[in-house]
Amino acid sequence: MKKIGILTSGGDAPGMNAAIRAVVRKAIYHGMEVYGVRSGYQGLMEGAIEKMELGSVGDIIHRGGTILQSARSDEFKTEEGQEKAIEQLKKFGIDGLIVIGGDGSFRGAQKLTEKGYPCIGVPGTIDNDIYGTDFTIGFDTALNTIIEAIDKIRDTATSHERTYIIEVMGRDAGDLALWAGLADGAESIIIPEKPDEFHEVTERVIRGHERGKKHSIIVVAEGVGSGFEFGKKIEKETNLETRVSVLGYIQRGGSPTASDRVLASRLGAHAVDLLLQGISGKMVGIHHNQLVNHDISTILSRKHHIDEDMYQLSKELSI
Ligand code: ADP
Repeated sequence: MKKIGILTSGGDAPGMNAAIRAVVRKAIYHGMEVYGVRSGYQGLMEGAIEKMELGSVGDIIHRGGTILQSARSDEFKTEEGQEKAIEQLKKFGIDGLIVIGGDGSFRGAQKLTEKGYPCIGVPGTIDNDIYGTDFTIGFDTALNTIIEAIDKIRDTATSHERTYIIEVMGRDAGDLALWAGLADGAESIIIPEKPDEFHEVTERVIRGHERGKKHSIIVVAEGVGSGFEFGKKIEKETNLETRVSVLGYIQRGGSPTASDRVLASRLGAHAVDLLLQGISGKMVGIHHNQLVNHDISTILSRKHHIDEDMYQLSKELSI
């Protein structure tokens, strides 16, 4: 393999730039050429492809977002779209493609692999919702952004004796809410994996109030429903003043944490290693701090699960 391509697709995540840098530098280190594709699969179909040099990725390791831009493309989901993409890759003489993104992006990579085009996936999403890796690139940074926000909200919650509902990202996976809740000593965590445990939340708020607690912090993942709806329900059932904060897109941005930069560098480099060995159709990941890889088809057919022990612990610590 002499020439490889790289793109970022789907939702952006802090640390994607560190992964791009690792891919480019590692590939050049091994004597390969690297081509950057702009705006994900959309740019791939349009041939928005440029050669990258060592300097193309200078001064980006600490930046959030993705210098290659990301996009969503419905056209790429069609056979014609995928053929168009492969034509462009062939036109530029690119032998293999590294896709940094979430499970939607890996579905695209799987389609290209099935058509005989070698692809490797690198998990980049703040949600940590991908099977086959303990952590995804961006999760740690988003988590730290949430913690910073909750710490600030806690100050005002204490001053006014209020219950605060913090809505965080996570459509299908409660990892951000669970980790943030545990790290911030939240009274309750409401996550998509445990939608039926809402009654316990109000019970816990009332119990806390009765023993003189000045405030409650409740973290809810967006996938379970609107924070505002939960706020109304909790206020109605507890009779306590409740406020809601939806953290929104601030969770996606910012300079990646050291942990995300290191993870992104390791995963990006591992993706290049696999292509060098002639391996494709895999997603790289981390398990027990060791680099691993799995068939993309396996990743897509299995579901990521929260750590049940951690969920139980979060309850025990907020009795
Ligand atoms: P993420 O990668 O963050 O999960 P999306 O689900 O939006 O983000 O997927 C990103 C892009 O991947 C889509 O816009 C589309 O171009 C491509 N993609 C998603 N699903 C498929 C599919 N089933 N077949 C081909 N391409 C897909």
